[in-house]
Amino acid sequence: MNQTSRRQFMKLTAAAAGGALAPLSLRALSTSSSVQRSVQGSVSLTVVPPLSVFNYSQIELLDGLFRQQFNNNHNLYLHLDEEALLKPFRHRMGMPSPGPDMGGWYDDADDFSLPDNFHGFIPGHSFGQYLSGLARAYAVTGDKSTQEKVHRLVRGFAQTVDTQGRFYVDYRLPAYTYDKTSCGLIDAHEFAGDPDALEVHWRATAAVMPHLPEKALSRAEQRARPHKDISYTWDETYTLPENLFLAYQRSGNSRYRDLAIRFIESGYFDPLAQGQNVLPGEHAYSHVNALSSAMQSYLVLGDEKYLRAAQNGFQMVQEQSYATGGWGPDEAFVVPGNGGLDSSLSTTHASFETPCGAYGHFKITRYLLRVTQDSRYGDSMERVLYNTIAGATPILADGTSFYYSDYNNSARKVHHRDKWPCCSGTFPQLTADYGISSYYQARDGIYVNLFLPSRLSWQQNGTRITLTQTTQYPNAETSQFDFALPRPETFAVYLRIPAWIGPKTTVSVNGRKVEDEILPGKFLALQRTWKEGDRLEVEFEMPVRLEVIDQQSPNNVALMHGPVALFGVGKMPVRVTRKQMLSASRVSGSLYDWSVRTDSGTLTLRPFANIMSEDYRLYIRVES
Ligand SMILES: [Zn+2]
Repeated sequence: MNQTSRRQFMKLTAAAAGGALAPLSLRALSTSSSVQRSVQGSVSLTVVPPLSVFNYSQIELLDGLFRQQFNNNHNLYLHLDEEALLKPFRHRMGMPSPGPDMGGWYDDADDFSLPDNFHGFIPGHSFGQYLSGLARAYAVTGDKSTQEKVHRLVRGFAQTVDTQGRFYVDYRLPAYTYDKTSCGLIDAHEFAGDPDALEVHWRATAAVMPHLPEKALSRAEQRARPHKDISYTWDETYTLPENLFLAYQRSGNSRYRDLAIRFIESGYFDPLAQGQNVLPGEHAYSHVNALSSAMQSYLVLGDEKYLRAAQNGFQMVQEQSYATGGWGPDEAFVVPGNGGLDSSLSTTHASFETPCGAYGHFKITRYLLRVTQDSRYGDSMERVLYNTIAGATPILADGTSFYYSDYNNSARKVHHRDKWPCCSGTFPQLTADYGISSYYQARDGIYVNLFLPSRLSWQQNGTRITLTQTTQYPNAETSQFDFALPRPETFAVYLRIPAWIGPKTTVSVNGRKVEDEILPGKFLALQRTWKEGDRLEVEFEMPVRLEVIDQQSPNNVALMHGPVALFGVGKMPVRVTRKQMLSASRVSGSLYDWSVRTDSGTLTLRPFANIMSEDYRLYIRVES
């Protein structure tokens, strides 16, 4: 950061802050934290969670659906036209902007018109997420061409950033796009070793400051201020602190921490911390995403209020989730206890904003799991994994994207109307994160969180260990872990035991059942001296069970098998009883399909991941 741009930045920050939050109060804030700056210029956290994430490179996904999703996204974004990606930035700066238009939300166009035409909705909005997805994909694979693309995109983007922020003049959602750009640049620095990304990030921050309000604004507050049309009131300033705190940690620049504090939305976190449910009516994804800002506030500032806000907020989301783990019909939270979820089954097809929602859900459950070591966050993560994103159709090269999961009583998988929507940004980030979501490092060993075909390599007490997980879970009930290590080593493997398991669940090491009690909803600690060739196996008893849509509608149920929701497909029988549903059995010869015999025919059920273009139905009305 050179002195000129630093001065410009401070000037702009002060100007944007107005009288109430002038530099004096920012300076006061900057001396109040106990976070220490280390010699490298990066900072250590006030709260260090007991579990840490591994590096992206330490976990390799093996053949299977999730590896395929990661490969699809990596490959698609690696081959995207760079001129097209940079075009809206160049165009808005009055620079030559060669190359094709991306289309959809991404273009700088003037024909956006509510409610039907979203062309040019938020020019360049997802550039940062594509950059982030590529930077993470490079960290996973070490693929040089991916790293080079990240570096080229950062250089190209840098040329379009001026500290006056001309890009953001008359721009609908400046915080929204800046937040994603911020994430992309700090990831380009952190995961793809980009030499310029942090400096560009600083300038990009200066560029947006004159266009941001003095504090985080709820949507109601935005509506109460003068605005050009309703689309200008959808900005998400309340999601900014997470990436600003990360920028602070990765750069050591305390001005980012000050800005993060400035955008903490107390109007949201304070009531959540006190157990007050303020979710109803709020935009769903961005308010789940904001819970990750609460977690960063907790980790950096050390105030437990923010941990309570995140935990309570997440709990309140879960209390209004569908059986799939998805939430937020029509992208909004419902009022709990008034049948809102049940009525959504007939009023909307926009049941769960899937790639964004799953991405936000993974992020908050990772934070909460790392801090609390509570396995229910892992249970929740896997439910969203298998029932939502696993069934998302691939993004196509023209930006055609999967957006909403449909839980309507008459449902079908469809692509989103608009090209390159928000969900095209979070999908590649999420698939790059599958590995780091699966295992965590503790001081005395490792936590196994997701049962995915994968290979983890790490050092324990100086010994290099490789753990290979082989599984067809959740279609099969077992998972197998093989250890490779040059000498015996003592450490613990903490295995997530889901809350839904039956009592016949077993865990064995080298063919011998472990004696420890296997408690549902806990991590099972397997502390021993592991050696080359050891094999750990888990066999889950996965009883089928019914989950009600909400308490007002106890007869509207989804059939669950372990973590998997089973969707009715084909012709629905006229009459199904609870007992018949609970007698569901696997269709012989099929890995996925289940059937329920009724007096009026057979009901076939199928996981979301295996549904293609057929009609389906998540909730089935049963008679007692
Ligand atoms: Zn989305």
